[in-house]
Amino acid sequence: MIVLPDRIRNAIARHAEETYPDECVGLILGRIDGARTEVEDVFAAPNRWTPEAGLTPADAEHSLRDRFYLDPRDYLRAERAARERGLDVVGCYHSHPDHPAVPSPRDLTGAQGIGGGSHFAFLIQSVREGRAAELTAWTLDDDGARFVSEETVRCPP
Ligand SMILES: [Zn+2]
Repeated sequence: MIVLPDRIRNAIARHAEETYPDECVGLILGRIDGARTEVEDVFAAPNRWTPEAGLTPADAEHSLRDRFYLDPRDYLRAERAARERGLDVVGCYHSHPDHPAVPSPRDLTGAQGIGGGSHFAFLIQSVREGRAAELTAWTLDDDGARFVSEETVRCPP
C-alpha cells in the first residue's frame, strides 16, 4: 500500500502537465514501514533522454514524447535531499502523454535496472491533451520479473 497525499498527487500531475507533450520523470521521497510506503515529497528531475541514452538501436527513433531518462546524478541529488530530511527515495514517477497509465515493456526493463527492492514504487501519470488523468502505482514482484499493481490511499489509515 502506498500512502499518497493529495499534495503529492497534485505535484506529480502539475509536473506531468508542464512537460506535456513530453514525458516527465521524478523521484518520490518518504518512508517504507513494512508493507506500507508513505510518500512525503516529490523530487522533479529533468528528462535527459537522448537517442544515445537508449537501450537498443530502435530507441533512436523515439523522443522525449515517449521516452524518459533519469540521470544517475539526478538520482543522487534526490537521495541527498531525502537524507537531509531523514527520508529515503522510495520510488519514481513518469508520465504517459496521451497513453494509459499502464507500464510498457520498456518501463519493465528500466525498472529492473533501477531495482531498489520489492517495495520501490513506480508511479505512472497519464496525461490526455495536456490534462493530468489517471495515476497508477506498481512494484516489481519478488523475482523482479513483472509489475504488480499497488493500492494507493490518500491518507494513512
Ligand atoms: Zn512508461
